[in-house]
Amino acid sequence: MSNSLQVTEGIISRVIPFRENDQIITIFSPDAGLIKVIYKKKRNLKAGLERLCAPLSRVEVVYSERQGEIFNCSEMTCIETFPNLRKDLLFLEAACDMLQVVSLSQMPGKEAKQLYALLLFFLKKIPQSLYPWTLAASFRLKLLKHDGLMYFPMTCLECGLFLEEEAYTQECECFCSLHKPENGLVWNQEELLHLNQLALLQNFSELSSIQLDEQLFNRIRALFAAGIELERL
Ligand SMILES: [Zn+2]
Repeated sequence: MSNSLQVTEGIISRVIPFRENDQIITIFSPDAGLIKVIYKKKRNLKAGLERLCAPLSRVEVVYSERQGEIFNCSEMTCIETFPNLRKDLLFLEAACDMLQVVSLSQMPGKEAKQLYALLLFFLKKIPQSLYPWTLAASFRLKLLKHDGLMYFPMTCLECGLFLEEEAYTQECECFCSLHKPENGLVWNQEELLHLNQLALLQNFSELSSIQLDEQLFNRIRALFAAGIELERL
């Protein structure tokens, strides 16, 4: 691996203290997926930069690659801190949910330009949304689609039937009632409509007008967890 300097922007998803004065910072970047860098606080204290290294900040980072998973950060500049997200606990929770699913699913070194653009778009839109958790659910489904783990609109894997009235999923595979698996999750017509809308809608005002009940959100979480398990196998 080369020691040349790399420059990328990214969103900080995690900061953990390391040694006496340093931090290991995980950043989700468009060019290199999730990267971890060691950030030397001491070096940057004078410049008053340490406050920048908080989760949910968008930064530009200069780092040198080296053997191993953790890179050396030589410079970090803040682009924005999303102050509007910090005005309401609900906004913050939805934003953290998105960062968490990125951390769970994305790989180091795997480019994710589209997903990064989507995350940035949602982080900016959350404070304008009536139902921030709708955006969080939508982000989970769009991520499954982005990673090729699930396809929308949902069709039966066996016969190709467009699943409008009833569907069964096992892991992230979808089936009609004729081909249903033994232990599949069942989805009714209204839920299917929501799943397809959340995964496919591009228009923010249409998307953000969807009100989800908690039960459906929890089922989407379960679907997502199954998809991520699959990716890890
Ligand atoms: Zn079928």
